[in-house]
Amino acid sequence: MCIFCDIIDHKIPSAVVYEDEKVLAILDISQVTYGHTLVMPKKHVRNIIEADEESVLACVSVAKKLAAQIVKNTKANGVNVLTNCGEAAGQSVDHLHFHIIPRYDENDAIELKFNESPKQDLAEVLKTVKG
Ligand code: AMP
Ligand code: ZN
Repeated sequence: MCIFCDIIDHKIPSAVVYEDEKVLAILDISQVTYGHTLVMPKKHVRNIIEADEESVLACVSVAKKLAAQIVKNTKANGVNVLTNCGEAAGQSVDHLHFHIIPRYDENDAIELKFNESPKQDLAEVLKTVKG
């Protein structure tokens, strides 16, 4: 059982921002910031790595349009568009979704911070990343 599949099937109510044959966008129940929206494929796929390209591209295309619409209508100063993949990355619902999180100022309820970290040998990192 998947809570987002139940939302897509209208078994669980949601606040629908956008819907087409492949994609559903709803208000996130937590509203981390005002207007926080989730964009998900109607097909059940666990995350961005496991998903087929068509599902990802359909969601990204809708997320791009909605990000612009939401920023305009909420008068936000910016927006984070992100997807969490895997428990270690904070994914709590195993159905691919993109968060659209309008940003108002540095004191709003979300903090994405790139902390100081040890220097890396980029040549070595590149070798690992490219496999
Ligand atoms: P993540 O942690 O990236 O998997 O995000 C899951 C998101 O789903 C969280 O931000 C939750 O607030 C949101 N969520 C969970 N249940 C519901 C629901 N019934 N309706 C809307 N959003 C939900
Ligand atoms: Zn699902």
